[in-house]
Amino acid sequence: MAMSHAEIGLIGLGTMGAALALNIAEKGFPIAVWNRTTSVTDSFFDAAGALAPKIIPTRSLTEFVSALKSPRAIILMVPAGQAVDDQIAALQPLLNSDDLIIDAGNANFHDTNRRSSAALGLRFLGMGVSGGEEGARHGPSIMGGGARADWDRISHILTAIAAKADDGMPCATWMGEAGAGHFVKAVHNGIEYADMQMIAEVYGVMRDGLGMDAPAVATTFATWNAGPLKSYLIEISAGVAAAIDPITGAAMLDVILDAAGQKGTGRWTAIEAQHLAAPVPVIEAAVMARNVSARLGERAKGEDRFGPAPMRLSGEITVDDLEQAMIAGKILCYAQGFAMISAASEAFKWALPLPEIAKVWRAGCIIRSSMLDAMARALGEDAGRNLILAPEFSDRLEETLPALRRVVAAGALNGLACPALGAGLSWFDLMRTRRGTANMIQGQRDFFGAHGFDRLDGADHHHGPWGSHA
Ligand code: NDP
Repeated sequence: MAMSHAEIGLIGLGTMGAALALNIAEKGFPIAVWNRTTSVTDSFFDAAGALAPKIIPTRSLTEFVSALKSPRAIILMVPAGQAVDDQIAALQPLLNSDDLIIDAGNANFHDTNRRSSAALGLRFLGMGVSGGEEGARHGPSIMGGGARADWDRISHILTAIAAKADDGMPCATWMGEAGAGHFVKAVHNGIEYADMQMIAEVYGVMRDGLGMDAPAVATTFATWNAGPLKSYLIEISAGVAAAIDPITGAAMLDVILDAAGQKGTGRWTAIEAQHLAAPVPVIEAAVMARNVSARLGERAKGEDRFGPAPMRLSGEITVDDLEQAMIAGKILCYAQGFAMISAASEAFKWALPLPEIAKVWRAGCIIRSSMLDAMARALGEDAGRNLILAPEFSDRLEETLPALRRVVAAGALNGLACPALGAGLSWFDLMRTRRGTANMIQGQRDFFGAHGFDRLDGADHHHGPWGSHA
């Protein structure tokens, strides 16, 4: 029988849970673990090596709960959705009102809101964890939500296991009440989709437009990773492009099927952005592109019918243009993401700390990049201002937008799809235009539906002279 001395417990020893448990044990916190399939617990414990003395493997939920110091703190690392509800229900009869469950999976923040306000008879935190298996093992980025007092109870463990930014700050932050942490994690994942899509687009231009082979793409990304685009995703893209398929000896990239998978967190962000009326077109384009990528058969029929696009961009744009276009696209994408967070903060009365969010993403997580330092600075100066208007980013946009225009235009003329880069550019052009075209929309709406409109001169005349045409 396990002794009740574990500081914290963890349920779900899958990819993320096992890595997180080892990380917690390594930082010196005794941890009790339980997994639905006991053989998984056994093999996890057998492989724990030097960390085993800090780990208490348990074979039943009762044994697990009694291995924990009271008041208890239990991390759930199981698939989002029903499994979380089931696991909470199984724990409820065994726990007291001051025991704390922390859902560390990729929950939809609406579910976290629901669980936070439900009469669970215990304390509940929703915690977004990013960084994949490697991050969970050696330092993830952690975005917490729920009652501040509950976060404070376990924050010493979370800051100990979290990634540390270059300035030493742990990437573990309380974002606000209820689903705030899972919301910020969802936007992180949406931005992750967008960053990945923009990289895939410039890769496409290099491959199909400029005729570059995978090693040349790898070298280019590796070079970019020493400049303003320095980031985990650019770094691993260089690695992906450089890899050789052990079976055929060809470039790995050239044998990977071009149909992207997804678990849906990017889609949640796009859907939520629509609800909030907070446009994130780069993320939406990234979700769209993944969905289109999966329609292999239809795409093949499209090419059969319309023929391959010309895709010859040599002489029209350069690799340097692509780097500049990526910089502009990234700024536009993050400006949209932070604006969405700001809108959610207001809509859900969360007071989400924008500069802290930029900081918590600087290390450990998938979208970590050197640019986030400057973003944290800019948001720290004025969190209410759109990032494109922060002087440092306005200047960078002025420098890089001409290249973004060249890339998007050349892609459009040559049938090379750049949906995320293009969506960023269109959003920017809307955002920098004082007199837009929605006057036509308002006229149409009034014409067919008598919805009325405001006038430029402010005069009190809110319907058009449509007469019998209406
Ligand atoms: P895995 O599939 O590797 O592991 C799932 C774990 O949950 C297993 O331990 C499994 O137990 C357990 N489990 C599954 N269903 C139930 C259930 N109904 N009741 C109790 N336990 C159950 O998943 P991951 O570790 O990849 O993901 C876990 C969570 O972390 C998910 O929410 C995921 O979205 C999130 N996440 C994942 C990341 C990643 O890179 N993989 C990154 C960030 C977050 P058993 O051994 O019995 O099957």
